[in-house]
Amino acid sequence: MFNLILFGPPGSGKGTQSEKIVEKFGLIHLSTGNLLRQEIADETPLGLEAKNFMDKGQLVPDEVVIGMIDSCLEKHAGAKGFLFDGFPRTVAQAEALDKLLTLKKTSIAKVIALDVIEEELVQRLLKRGETSGRSDDTNEAVIRKRFAVYKDETEPVADYYREQEKFEMIQGIGTIDEIFKALSTLIEAEIAHQQSVSAQ
Ligand code: ADP
Repeated sequence: MFNLILFGPPGSGKGTQSEKIVEKFGLIHLSTGNLLRQEIADETPLGLEAKNFMDKGQLVPDEVVIGMIDSCLEKHAGAKGFLFDGFPRTVAQAEALDKLLTLKKTSIAKVIALDVIEEELVQRLLKRGETSGRSDDTNEAVIRKRFAVYKDETEPVADYYREQEKFEMIQGIGTIDEIFKALSTLIEAEIAHQQSVSAQ
């Protein structure tokens, strides 16, 4: 299996680029944000619980998202690989993911972060809020709260993967195609590297 994490702050373009990556490389897209919004739309108990946190810009509890990821991994047991988007968002989630993947005799190949400055992110999110129907994108206070949570809880996840020498950062400002090209180059290099290691 070939598993990637697309990392970066809210509004950095993870969703847009993920769709292009999974199409090109044949991976399963696992976006915890999308999964949670689907639970809300379906009015499940999990969705009702998650909505309270999401509307305030807080993280949904680790055990909830980890359980969701676990069942998705089971559901797609035969997959070629996964692209994780918006997950892991805490060090506890990263540790849980490593454990789940080890049980499946696989691991994370690379973590690629999209680098975008905060002022650009706020503008992008407010613009997205005009059309996306996402209530967490229309209120600037909620957006600022999500950045604060990102700095406190999610940025340490970057160090977790730096220590494993899996972390790479690319410029997240430019056209969608330019950024996708940079991502593809990195991913293709990693696939070639894995193939050369497994051929030895
Ligand atoms: P964005 O990255 O633009 O904030 P997402 O769609 O990834 O958007 O997430 C929206 C909200 O869903 C987050 O603010 C958070 O409340 C919740 N959420 C998504 N993924 C996770 C996660 N891995 N852990 C905890 N909460 C999450």
